[in-house]
Amino acid sequence: MNLIPYGAAGVVTGSAYLLELEHARILIDFGMFQGDRELEAMNIVPEGLHARDLDAVILTHGHLDHCGRLPMLVRRGYRGSIFTTAATIEMAELVLRDAAHIMEADYERKLRKAQKKGMKVNRDDAPLFDADDVADTIKLMRAVDYDTLLDVAPGVAARFLDAGHMLGSASIELRVMDQGTTRRIVFSGDIGPHGLPFLRDPNPPEPADVVVMESTYGDRNHRSLADTLAEFSRIVQQAVAQNGKIFVPSFAIGRTQQLLYHLAELFKQKVIPAIPIYIDSPMGINATRIYQHHTELFDDESTALLRSGELLSLLTSVHTTETREESQAINDVKGPIVVIAGSGMATAGRILHHLRQNLDDPTAHVIIVGYQGHGTLGRKLVDGQQVVSVLGDKISVRAQIHTLGGFSAHAGQTELIDWGRHCIGPTTSVYLTHGEDDARTVLAERLQETTGVVPYLPTYAERLIV
Ligand SMILES: [Zn+2]
Repeated sequence: MNLIPYGAAGVVTGSAYLLELEHARILIDFGMFQGDRELEAMNIVPEGLHARDLDAVILTHGHLDHCGRLPMLVRRGYRGSIFTTAATIEMAELVLRDAAHIMEADYERKLRKAQKKGMKVNRDDAPLFDADDVADTIKLMRAVDYDTLLDVAPGVAARFLDAGHMLGSASIELRVMDQGTTRRIVFSGDIGPHGLPFLRDPNPPEPADVVVMESTYGDRNHRSLADTLAEFSRIVQQAVAQNGKIFVPSFAIGRTQQLLYHLAELFKQKVIPAIPIYIDSPMGINATRIYQHHTELFDDESTALLRSGELLSLLTSVHTTETREESQAINDVKGPIVVIAGSGMATAGRILHHLRQNLDDPTAHVIIVGYQGHGTLGRKLVDGQQVVSVLGDKISVRAQIHTLGGFSAHAGQTELIDWGRHCIGPTTSVYLTHGEDDARTVLAERLQETTGVVPYLPTYAERLIV
């Protein structure tokens, strides 16, 4: 068998693995590279990957860095099935439509700019796919239940196991007929931490012959959720005491719903009164609706809170603002309020007009809950820059900026090793992907200490014989 990583080999984006078997060719994930121009230039259908020759595609979850190149594959003629969970189909549709919309809007802006100067727009700036490609892609998706063995291609059966990373996320166990014997191949997908609200904890696979495993936080553990929640609670209490406004730049899926859950808990414990919460993002609103469609996937605690009606009764102060006018109107609302708006790194989206309006207010709080890339406004705030440029205006930062690292949707080092111990035996071949080289090198050492197996760190498009 051959295994070829077409992404996420030494980086955390672009997940894609081609598995070449005796009688079938299967692609596991086909995600987008995200980051600087050099990385984004890798958003291609590689030469070795022939869309029409594939027997099946398997998708682990709906994040763009796992599903974002699928519409390009469909544009190239892929017409087979894309197996994934029902919740992931809805998440992927939301994420891919949003990506198509952003690329089209970007392209039109560049086109107008170029036309004004009498120039042509760069061909590399053309959108990678459009809304029609997304619709064609979604049509190929087949809903799969967790924990059920399903034939996906000649001689290949797949089982999806809950990965606890986002709603619908899965690790994949493949059983492959190879020269008369059955072999087990595991793809971890992204592995969640323990104790995330709504989601079940990851369900690790049984011992396998081959394990392809993520290593995003392979070199460190997160601050504990309990400590993070204590700090979150302290910030909200302070804002309430000052009638201040809290702004949270947040990616619409996952963290937005997690924050709602934690706020509901604070309301329940009467730590703070039920202050107004604004989900100021059409995508956040849609993602929250998908959570409501898939309550069957919730963990026991969230299910109990939902069944009793308590969760919804605690969250009656939540407002969702779909239109631009509704979003602008939040400016006139007096504190204390919480506003959750994208984008997560404050590089675009509605969070920008809130920050322009409020960053110079000493009673305002900005809570940073996710990773902030170099050069982004979010990063400048984290780094304590005194004056920042927002939507073309220079603003003095007087608001209080807080960074909370413990809300990650990825397992930390200890949890990764615990997960790995379940499926790595003395003869397992282990490949570490989806992590920067520093992180996967450290994780490789720790895994070797605990399992005795020496993991391999593959490079892009390397043909691995497994
Ligand atoms: Zn992910």
